[in-house]
Amino acid sequence: MPKNPSSESLVFAVDLGGTHLRVALIDASGKILQQAKQDTPKGDAAGCIINALATVSEKWRGQEQPVVAASIMVPGAVDSDKAVVVQAPNLPSLVNFGLKAALEQRLGWPVLLENDANAAAVGERWLGAARGCADVVSVTLGTGVGGGVILDSKLWRGAHGSAGEIGHATVDPFASLKCKCGNTGCLELYASATGIVRMTRENLSLFPETQLKPDELTAEKVYEAGRNGDALAISVFRRAGMYLGIGLANVINVIDPQIIVITGGVVNGWDLFAPEMYRQVDERAFRATAQQVEIARAECGDNAGLLGAARLGFDSLTG
Ligand SMILES: [Zn+2]
Repeated sequence: MPKNPSSESLVFAVDLGGTHLRVALIDASGKILQQAKQDTPKGDAAGCIINALATVSEKWRGQEQPVVAASIMVPGAVDSDKAVVVQAPNLPSLVNFGLKAALEQRLGWPVLLENDANAAAVGERWLGAARGCADVVSVTLGTGVGGGVILDSKLWRGAHGSAGEIGHATVDPFASLKCKCGNTGCLELYASATGIVRMTRENLSLFPETQLKPDELTAEKVYEAGRNGDALAISVFRRAGMYLGIGLANVINVIDPQIIVITGGVVNGWDLFAPEMYRQVDERAFRATAQQVEIARAECGDNAGLLGAARLGFDSLTG
């Protein structure tokens, strides 16, 4: 196995989501040479996921450029040796399973595991909205809410591997609804796609004029309705923005980053949630700091995590 990647080297980057499995071959400049997407195998054994990855990797083995590492991002926490997934509510079969060792044996490349939101932060710093910034926080608004922290140009994983879990910051101490982490009132309950659908459903009866139907709700549909002036959709996104802004104000006061990058599918609703988000930040964070921190939409779109995984793969080989 080549230890020092050349500019010709490739990383086999994997976004192992609870819903979709996305794989790409990426070079050291961030160019995506191959990309594939499929449903994440629903079998309860981790072996189904390993088989799926092995099948894709076999298809791509004919590349002239050598693959030097596989970099896998997972929707959960990874242990300090980055060998085992220790928490992954959406992929329970991976918890405490030796994913790194099993994949190294099957794929034949060094394997790196990383939390998906951390990888997104690295991707946006490499090729997206946070290019050139030393202190970056990224917040991913997807099925859940994740966060990644880069301090002094280094990914900050924390003493126990769970730094940046912004989605589980308490933003409503009086909420009774439980989060899957066990807490109540977590940011994830309001600013995720799941939260947007739930809040819409809860408030349907208060907005009899709404065009939204209870049995076919998605965050995307709520967003589309909001753009068309639907009062329920607008109120739901405003509420999501309020809680997001409360969370970000706390992040700004603790971290003081140059930039906060908002990634994930819910970013499509930016026009609907951002005004309230900014209002809360202005009200709650230290004024002088808040005026200087940039809060920006991600620029790498869906690929922030895959690109970050690739960057981390190259970095792991060069030390
Ligand atoms: Zn939580």
